[in-house]
Amino acid sequence: MILRFDNSWVRDLPGTFLRLDPDPAPSPALVFLNRPLAVGLGLDPDLLADKGAGWFSGAEVPPGAEPIALAYAGHQFGGFSPSLGDGRAHLLGEVIGPDGRRWDLQLKGSGRTPFSRGGDGKAVLGPMLREVLVSEAMAALGVPTTRALAVATTGEAVWREGRQPGAVLARVAASHLRVGTFQFFAARGETEKLAALTAHALARHFPEAAGAATPALALFDAVTARQCRLIAQWMGLGFIHGVMNTDNMAISGETLDYGPCAFMEGFAPGTVFSSIDRQGRYAWANQPAILGWNLARLAEALVPLIDPDGERAVAVANDRLGGIAALYRAEWLAVMRGKLGLLGEAAEDAALVDDLLAAIEGADWTLTFRRLAGAAEGDLSALRPLFDSFAAMEAWLPRWQARLSPGAAARIRAANPAVIPRNHRVEEALEAATAGDLAPFEALLQAVREPFVEREPYMLPAPSGFGPYVTFCGT
Ligand code: AMP
Ligand code: MG
Repeated sequence: MILRFDNSWVRDLPGTFLRLDPDPAPSPALVFLNRPLAVGLGLDPDLLADKGAGWFSGAEVPPGAEPIALAYAGHQFGGFSPSLGDGRAHLLGEVIGPDGRRWDLQLKGSGRTPFSRGGDGKAVLGPMLREVLVSEAMAALGVPTTRALAVATTGEAVWREGRQPGAVLARVAASHLRVGTFQFFAARGETEKLAALTAHALARHFPEAAGAATPALALFDAVTARQCRLIAQWMGLGFIHGVMNTDNMAISGETLDYGPCAFMEGFAPGTVFSSIDRQGRYAWANQPAILGWNLARLAEALVPLIDPDGERAVAVANDRLGGIAALYRAEWLAVMRGKLGLLGEAAEDAALVDDLLAAIEGADWTLTFRRLAGAAEGDLSALRPLFDSFAAMEAWLPRWQARLSPGAAARIRAANPAVIPRNHRVEEALEAATAGDLAPFEALLQAVREPFVEREPYMLPAPSGFGPYVTFCGT
């Protein structure tokens, strides 16, 4: 088993990338290797452990790789940039797993590119290990996500409010096709290339729709379905992505680009962690609306392919956009029925969910749902202490209990994690790792990889002295 590449992006998508090699790292060392992921991809973990310092730091280009920086456009916080692109990433190429599925293998933090603008093209150890922790948690929670295959330090110091160890993340994605990739060609009026991109994306991610009469509509519908499910899963977990710009929304339906993301602790719909999100555009409760907004940008980009008659194309696109809220709502209700241990569907479920949200403000999101398992068994002793006032819950619980059927407690425990990457635990692990001690990172990684196992020290909310928690982009 060697690392064998098959680079369809380079073959099929001219005009969307620049061919250039990563920066050579002066003194590379492998600090993290995702052995289970390597095995799943059909790669030999021992070979990767041997070669990974060179391959995953950018020091050495693996045989068969054709490193490229991807071009894309995107709306960032609502403002359009026609020319973004990978400012600090190199797509090495694609690997095909034992099941025939194709995966992008990309380095992040691997040096400047023509898309870097003012940036240094680098990344540092803490934020790359943060991506490992959060993306491994998401994978274990059953959320579609890019994965971290490895992290290598470069031996270089990188300046981020002080000297930090430079590091590169090797990330695996179903693909790095984004809404912004489509916007790139649309903004330039390159309709033929847009059509080729659409065909490539359909073949790669939605082969079942490949023969569709209107490929652009088939793609739009398929992306809408996946993204509605994805955002509903985020919402159910209290996950806040933090930068839902259109260049960070993957066509594959995977969670992409772990920057300032974090999990909510005490339930407050307006929760925002990112230092730059001052208006709360990407707050927890806004994520479904932003999903709709971003899909509208995808629809706009695809309009020239929907119908040669511009007016008809816009009418069709608007019709699709009008249906998104209901599609999302159905996914959200499915997630919440799961979290509440409910079987089947009842007319009152939507109100039951809405009223629960009103009743749990301030209580720890994750533990509240986990401890509903006890409540389903008639024991409120674990749930009650999560609340300052339990009055609203006293009114809500009997309505929910009336809707339960046998086995609810077990279903609740299977649907609601005990462990999420708690912000204070993540910070503690990254601080130690940056100072050279990887033990807290490894222990936390093990806990988040088994999120339904109750490990007390990792379940508790941040102590009252911690916070308010603020996260940063592109660090
Ligand atoms: P984001 O929305 O955080 O994924 O990133 C927005 C853009 O900034 C992307 O085009 C990145 O490649 C670029 N970027 C982020 N950090 C750096 C950096 N240190 N150097 C160069 N470009 C960067
Ligand atoms: Mg990005």
